Amino acid sequence: MNLRTLLDKLLGSADWGIHPDDHKRPGADAPVRVMPAPSRLYLPLSQHSGAPARPIVLVGQKVKKGECLAEAQGMVSAPVHAPTSGTVLAVADVTAPHPSGLAMPAIMLEPDGLDEWIELKGCDDPFALSPAEINKKVAAAGVVGMGGGTFPSAVKLTGANRAGIHTVIINGGECEPYLSCDDVLMRTQAAGIVAGVRLIVHASGAKRALIGIEDNKPEAIAAMQAAAAGYDTVRVCPVPARFPMGFDKQMVKTLTGIEVPADGRSFDAGVLVNNVGTALAVWQAVAEGRPLVSRLVTLGGACVNAPGNIDVPLGALAEDVLAFAGGLKGDGLGLARRVIGGPMMGAQVQHWRVPVMKGVSGILALDAKEARLEDASDCIRCGSCVEACPMGLLPSDMAANIRKEALGEAVELGLKDCIACGCCAYVCPSSIPLVQHFTYAKNELAARDRATLRMEATKKLAQAREARLAREAQEKAEAAARRKAERAAAAAKTAAAAEASKQGEPT
Ligand code: SF4
Ligand code: SF4
Repeated sequence: MNLRTLLDKLLGSADWGIHPDDHKRPGADAPVRVMPAPSRLYLPLSQHSGAPARPIVLVGQKVKKGECLAEAQGMVSAPVHAPTSGTVLAVADVTAPHPSGLAMPAIMLEPDGLDEWIELKGCDDPFALSPAEINKKVAAAGVVGMGGGTFPSAVKLTGANRAGIHTVIINGGECEPYLSCDDVLMRTQAAGIVAGVRLIVHASGAKRALIGIEDNKPEAIAAMQAAAAGYDTVRVCPVPARFPMGFDKQMVKTLTGIEVPADGRSFDAGVLVNNVGTALAVWQAVAEGRPLVSRLVTLGGACVNAPGNIDVPLGALAEDVLAFAGGLKGDGLGLARRVIGGPMMGAQVQHWRVPVMKGVSGILALDAKEARLEDASDCIRCGSCVEACPMGLLPSDMAANIRKEALGEAVELGLKDCIACGCCAYVCPSSIPLVQHFTYAKNELAARDRATLRMEATKKLAQAREARLAREAQEKAEAAARRKAERAAAAAKTAAAAEASKQGEPT
């Protein structure tokens, strides 16, 4: 536990969260580097929540930068565009930037080095467009939540409009240690972000926007306040720097006092939450007609030679980003953990051959100290994890139940409300890997749910089969009885005819 977290605890100045060492500098102050396309790009069809995009290009086809390679399919989906000009090589598997290391289908593109754009169709007065027209442009540009949520933004805007929200919250929290891409975006592109925020207010039908920025980013706050000056509907609100302030529900509660239930949506509370990067992407999509083809990514950790923020073409492999940006110290000697995203809520990966996707905010190469690779010891019932938990849970008790395989008890203690923020594990003096417990238990519960669903489906099928067989047997029996009756009637008729003929009567 560091000094600020300890002070909070002693003074009782916060009832949730922690203050991990932020490690944001010097990377946050380094000039942004723009990475050219590497020799291959791998563009996963699933870079967003919802259905994967469907490829619409052929192998060998030449494409320009910004051209649509795969279109959205279904109600919740987003298209994928070419981050540079080149030739489509294949639809092949690439490793997902996820701890599972599972393969995901991706369009492989060979850049031609020309970086030639399609003709972009912008709009001179985006505020003259209707919400439906704005949503259409945002959807066509493949904009998704850039804070890691990756929910298609147009779907969110349409939902917000229907739900009748009153407030747009723009999340500039960026509370994860090391990450500074949102901070840099706010410092360098404040005007575009604020224009995007105003457009989101217009398209969602909200009355106002509150931009929450942690108070450890004074330059970003100043830049955003200057850009928002004169717009009554937009207010920049400094919030205390504390992890996980950047989590949407914490930001909503801090800015509006509204508590969104763990299983509820912010829409239900009249609020729409977007990240600062998403606001900029919305503006670029509508005003410039520019699809989402690149993003700012923070490169950090003690093992990298030159930490900072890189403008990366989507689909570039993390190993290419590292090679472009100065590589690893000592060729990676001392590397203890590879992380995609932030160290608290990001994904640990086994190698660097994973692509940068729309929701990837960081590439971290951590040494053993940063990765906090310490042996776990027994729980000393100190209660630190309980005090740190932003969701008001009892992490030590949940973990104890999970160790006993008593998952039902863990659920009763609120396991399903856990957001896997890692605050509990961070403050635990016994270095107990609490989050791993919760992840294991949630996966196990999901597997059990799936098995139950399968069993129920099988049972329903068996019941339906039995009912069908019974129905068919009944129908057969009825048909047989009918035939028997018909035969008996025919026989009686024949007998009657024979009798009549015997007696000389006409039949
Ligand atoms: S990981 Fe879960 S239990 Fe631990 S502090 Fe975060 S929300 Fe609470
Ligand atoms: S799990 Fe860790 S932080 Fe929680 S009570 Fe036990 S020793 Fe303390």
